[in-house]
Amino acid sequence: MLSAPSSFSQPPSHISFLSTAHILLPPSRSTMAAASPLCRCAVPAVLRTSWTDANPGRRFFGCANYRGANACNYFRWIDPPLKDNIKRLVLALHKRIREVERRNDRSSFV
Ligand SMILES: [Zn+2]
Repeated sequence: MLSAPSSFSQPPSHISFLSTAHILLPPSRSTMAAASPLCRCAVPAVLRTSWTDANPGRRFFGCANYRGANACNYFRWIDPPLKDNIKRLVLALHKRIREVERRNDRSSFV
């Protein structure tokens, strides 16, 4: 009788969960270049991701000079508002990813 090795019966489900979330985060360069509107500085706005509690993981376009002396404060959401349950899920996943990354950083210095 055939049976799967025990290592396959218990995959580390949290790891695939985290890496899936990670893949969604960085926008592709080509998408940015094609879709970037001009801010009031007349330069292409930069695609960023909000990590506030109110809008975790929600993408927006902002002034490329953001926090610079000549920033125009251009701001435009790309993604629709998140449902509360999704906010909680994204915040929990983000926190988890940061913890894992911190742990990996520490172990690489040992
Ligand atoms: Zn600007």
